[in-house]
Amino acid sequence: MDIDRTRFGPAGYPLDAPKEEAFTYLRSIGLDGMEYQAVRSVPKNKELLRWIREQAEENDVVLSLHAPYAINLASEDPKKREASIGRILSAAVAAHRMGARHVTFHPGYYGKFGREEALKMAINALERLHSVIEGRGLQVELGPETTGKPSQLGSLDDVLIMAESVDGVVPTVDFAHIHVRDGGVIRGRKDYERILDEIEGRLGTLDGLVVHFTEVEPTKSGYGERMHHELGSGYGPEFEPLAQLMVERDVRWLVISESPLLERDALKMKQVYERLRRER
Ligand SMILES: [Zn+2]
Repeated sequence: MDIDRTRFGPAGYPLDAPKEEAFTYLRSIGLDGMEYQAVRSVPKNKELLRWIREQAEENDVVLSLHAPYAINLASEDPKKREASIGRILSAAVAAHRMGARHVTFHPGYYGKFGREEALKMAINALERLHSVIEGRGLQVELGPETTGKPSQLGSLDDVLIMAESVDGVVPTVDFAHIHVRDGGVIRGRKDYERILDEIEGRLGTLDGLVVHFTEVEPTKSGYGERMHHELGSGYGPEFEPLAQLMVERDVRWLVISESPLLERDALKMKQVYERLRRER
């Protein structure tokens, strides 16, 4: 999405303030982004959505929105596929009303269809969604997220194919998921470089990405996500080499902290990023 500079914020309302003060609080501690969590249900109350939009605008907080988890664009059950499309669409409507311009969602599971077929079904669904979103004049882009389990649609290649295939689709890049999905692949700068080169080569730019970051513990097998951890936990991946590349490549991203410490770690990331910018 169009964004003026790299911004940082939490996945959901901050921990250290009541909801009513969420946006003024974010501003007061120096944060300027947030991903609204509509992961269980999508808010429909117009008053609430207007309040969020006004608060975010007044406090210079750029928003994205995370759609419900219960989405599977490649379900074997056509009814479930339709319901998934419906959930993404209502998430897009809510996002539009609250002024969030990017809708993050987990595209689904390979299931019995296998990768090729599942990917085709997802692309088909995204094409339909895109035309409805355009038809209704909703100012949002669709953001299939890189997912954390090998059984899920959502490898980096999957979401890039979706973005290459359908207008108005820009992936949400979750580095923790990329890391654990393939057994702990981000060990340092070189690995981040490889990922950024791939994205830039295929999308033509790194600007405007919505990025999720947290340290993460893998499952026992080493493949897939067990749980999120705070920055500096030792689980990795490490934020600093990524921040170094963000500075060198002068990207403009919305960076969302998915650490259990939410905004406290968003602020840490921002501080690392700003230090590296000053040192340059
Ligand atoms: Zn997610």
